Amino acid sequence: MAAITLDKVGKTYAGGVQAVHSIDLQIADGEFLVLVGPSGCGKSTLLRMIAGLETITSGEVRIGDRVVNNVEPADRDIAMVFQNYALYPHMSVRQNLAYGLKNRKTPKQEIDRRVAEAAEILEIGAFLDRKPRALSGGQRQRVAMGRAIVREPAAFLFDEPLSNLDAKLRVQMRGEIKQLQQRLGTTSIYVTHDQLEAMTLAHRLVVLNGGRIEQVGTPLEVYRKP
Ligand code: ADP
Ligand code: ADP
Repeated sequence: MAAITLDKVGKTYAGGVQAVHSIDLQIADGEFLVLVGPSGCGKSTLLRMIAGLETITSGEVRIGDRVVNNVEPADRDIAMVFQNYALYPHMSVRQNLAYGLKNRKTPKQEIDRRVAEAAEILEIGAFLDRKPRALSGGQRQRVAMGRAIVREPAAFLFDEPLSNLDAKLRVQMRGEIKQLQQRLGTTSIYVTHDQLEAMTLAHRLVVLNGGRIEQVGTPLEVYRKP
């Protein structure tokens, strides 16, 4: 069974813009799929429909064998990483990491175990008691990833997670996400503008254009010069 299945998924916004046209796509268990394409091609809309942050106009999204069209974002067994970090400013790093688990009534011991594990994986153990404002951009993005990791979700959704970072940090974080991919093996969908990120991370690339799939292949197949 695919980890995530899109069955003729479409989106027309209230104003009449058809952002996504009847997309069929299956993401395999453990696959790291990268979505690329020009600005306005529907990448973010597609990701947000999978996350449940945008309603689906037509078709079906399944996570495992469960149809999630009408399931709340927090109940979808996926975790999203945003480019703006979306950390709670008044909470410490530790509280930021624990918050979603507390809401889900996870036992304290289990929360502590997962927070410690995420802190170790992301090397943020030294900042657990700091507030986000006392962190660098790269550290904040690590915490944002930590929030996703502690959920131990069936899949990660990344919406241009590195695009707010400067060039040097982007290269470093790209390598760190690659390591996460190799260590955790969690099914992922990753939206980016950055060809090097796509080349480094993608098991499979999907090129969208005008709300449709234009090309699917390995990075070599997609970026090979004609
Ligand atoms: P991308 O992420 O590839 O840049 P988007 O998914 O953001 O593309 O946008 C796809 C299309 O949908 C664009 O034409 C965009 O203008 C339109 N769009 C995005 N969000 C909205 C919205 N909330 N209301 C109306 N149109 C939208
Ligand atoms: P957590 O467990 O980390 O609190 P949840 O999945 O329970 O995460 O709830 C966070 C929800 O808040 C997301 O699913 C999304 O609906 C919303 N959200 C958080 N940050 C953003 C953001 N930057 N942009 C849009 N929506 C966001």
